[in-house]
Order: sequence, then C-alpha cells, then structure tokens
Amino acid sequence: MNTWLTIASDSDFSIHNLPFGIFDPGDGQPRAGMAIGDHIVDLAAAAENGLLGKKRYFKKLFEQPVLNDFIAEGKTVTNGVRRKIQTWLCLPKAPENAAKILVERQNVQMHMPIRVGDYTDFYSSIEHATNVGKMFRPDNPLLPNWRWIPVGYHGRSSSIVVSGTPVRRPYGQILPKDQDTPIFAPSQRLDFELEMAFVIGKNTALGEPVPVERAEEYIFGLLLFNDWSARDIQRWEYVPLGPFLGKNFGSSVSPWIVPLEALKPFRVKGPQQNPAPLDYLKTTGARNYDIELEVGIKPENGTETVVCRSNMRYLYWSMAQQLAHHTSNGCNVQVGDLMASGTISGPDADSFGSMLELSWGGQKPVPLHDGSTRTFLQDGDSVIMRGWARKDEVRVGFGEVVSGILPAR
Ligand code: MN
Repeated sequence: MNTWLTIASDSDFSIHNLPFGIFDPGDGQPRAGMAIGDHIVDLAAAAENGLLGKKRYFKKLFEQPVLNDFIAEGKTVTNGVRRKIQTWLCLPKAPENAAKILVERQNVQMHMPIRVGDYTDFYSSIEHATNVGKMFRPDNPLLPNWRWIPVGYHGRSSSIVVSGTPVRRPYGQILPKDQDTPIFAPSQRLDFELEMAFVIGKNTALGEPVPVERAEEYIFGLLLFNDWSARDIQRWEYVPLGPFLGKNFGSSVSPWIVPLEALKPFRVKGPQQNPAPLDYLKTTGARNYDIELEVGIKPENGTETVVCRSNMRYLYWSMAQQLAHHTSNGCNVQVGDLMASGTISGPDADSFGSMLELSWGGQKPVPLHDGSTRTFLQDGDSVIMRGWARKDEVRVGFGEVVSGILPAR
C-alpha cells in the first residue's frame, strides 16, 4: 500500500494502522479523527467532503466528543470507514481536498477517546502473578485457581484519564513495617503497571455468554494502559476482597484506539496452557498478539531511562478467554467497557512490568541515566509507555501514554 503522504518508516501510525481517537484542533470542539503519520484525518471533514457517503449520518457520529456511538454501529461500519480512508490515502496523487481533511497532529489536544462504561482489570501474566506471589508467599507463589481462571476484579471507570493528564500521589491507610497500627499518609510505594486494554465494541444481553471462539467480534480495539498502583495501600487493604483504593485513584490510557483488524498480521501462539483450560475457555490457533512494549521513567527536567521491555505475547490468558470468562455467568458487557490485561511481565528481569517486580519489592534499586535510582516512583517523575507491532515492512504502533506525578495534596 502506497500513500501520497510522506510517512516516516518508523512511524507508529502507518497506512496499515489507522487508529481512531478524539482530538481538539484548537476550537474547543473535540471530534473524531484517525491518525496517519504526523497527521490526523478529520473524519467529520472527510464525511463533509463526500469520502464516506451518507454525509449526515457520518457527520453526526464524528462531531461528538467520544467514539461510543460510532463504535456501536458495528464493525461493518467502522471497518468500512477505515477502508474508505485507506483508499483515499492511497490515491495515485494528493487529492485537492486533502488540505480540508488533514490536520497536523502536533497542533492538537487529544481527549479520552471513549466514555468508559464498566472497567475490569485482569491478572493474566503468569510471570507477573508468580513474581508478586513469590514476594507475598514464597512457598506458594501461584494460587491453585490461577491456571484455571482468568483472575480479575471490577475496577472504577471514573478515574481513567487520557495520556498527558498528571496523576497525584494518593493518601491512604498504610501499615508501617513491624507495627500493628496503620497511619494515614501519602503512599511511599507509588508504582505503574504496564498493561494493554481492549474496548468492547458490541453489547451483549444480560444472561448471554460470549463463546470464546466469537469473542473477538466483541472487541473494537486496543489501547496502552497504565494501571497506577499504590503498593503500600494495596498491601494493607487487599484482604479479603481485593484491590480498592490502592488502584482507583487513577489509570491512564493512550489516546489512539488501534482497531483489532490492524493487528491481525501480528497474531502469535500464546504460552502453552497446562492444564488444558475447561471447554468454555478452549481456543484453537494463534490466540495472542505480538506487540512489543516498553516503559521509560523520566525524572523532572531529566532524560528518560527505559526500565522495562516486554511483549503482549507473554500473556497466559488471551483477550478472547478473558471476555468468554467474564460473560460465562451471564454478566453483560456494553460498548465502551474497558478490559485491561493485568501487568504484562516477561521471563527476564528487565521485562517485568512494574517497579514492584523490577526493584523486587524495593530491595533492588533500579538505576537511571542521571545516576539516581528508583525503587518506586518519585514526585515529578514521568512514566512513558509505548507499544508497537512490527513484521517485515509493516509497523502498527500505539503511540505513547505519558503521565507526570504530582506531589500529594
Ligand atoms: Mn492492574
């Protein structure tokens, strides 16, 4: 595929990608766009200029501050728009209406791409679950249910924010070491979690399970997801009902949703599942996606150090298995719901997806380029997550999710 636009060969937003997002070009009217190289296709303008047919229908969908209504139209419509824009971008020469439709990406403000309905966080990396288990229960790291159930919990959607939004260090109840009375204080163990999240693209009815082999029909696309975590708050509160205030003070997403269709060339086999999953979780063929991931820490006014390189392919439970399990009891899902993978750690010490693991519970400080070290995050630090898939000349990337940490109030 050749486009008349100049696109750098290492651009995340190649002609093969075409992710959807919500941007404000500076007029205070956030609207739908599609990233291509250093530009954005203003989709309402594309509709206005007759690229998509059904002008009024598409303008109404795209002149909105979230993508939910567009996504709810279904994959026939959303993939149809992608194909038409792709065809337009691959015309033999730059069309005359290009200037009316393209916006420079560096000049815009990105917004939350969807109004998130319900949010669920899984725990699907066996390396992450084993590492965390080892720190809390050295003799029995992986609990007996883990290889049978894609473990997860219901989170909170109100505090999910888009890349660029600062995150404030939370206060909470913390039990100081060797004491039996908690204090109320700012978290001293603020952490990131490197995750991917998928956006639900199709409603189900209450009582209607999604079969695992059809689960991807319900997935619109994927985002980078930073699940901020306060380990000291989490450690004291999590028994017996699981994560709560150590998690719900904030999670950050990348602004561009990469459609599942753009990721098809990057399907790979997942790790061997042993024991074999129960029938309702059994899949055939390649169930995972080969998406390279990295995390950088940039101190205030400093340079970035990449502290983690991982890959989505390490996930033990796939997105399809997560969704099949989530709905197996009849729980319904709705367009705009977000399901995050859980921290994606790999087998090597530099592929661990959280500071909890990289610093092994705070025992092994992680060196940064400026000579300082981190066990957990400091005020003023920015955390940068990136993700991309690559095969031969084809690159499909997610851009970044970047957030700076503000001191506790
Ligand atoms: Mn998480």
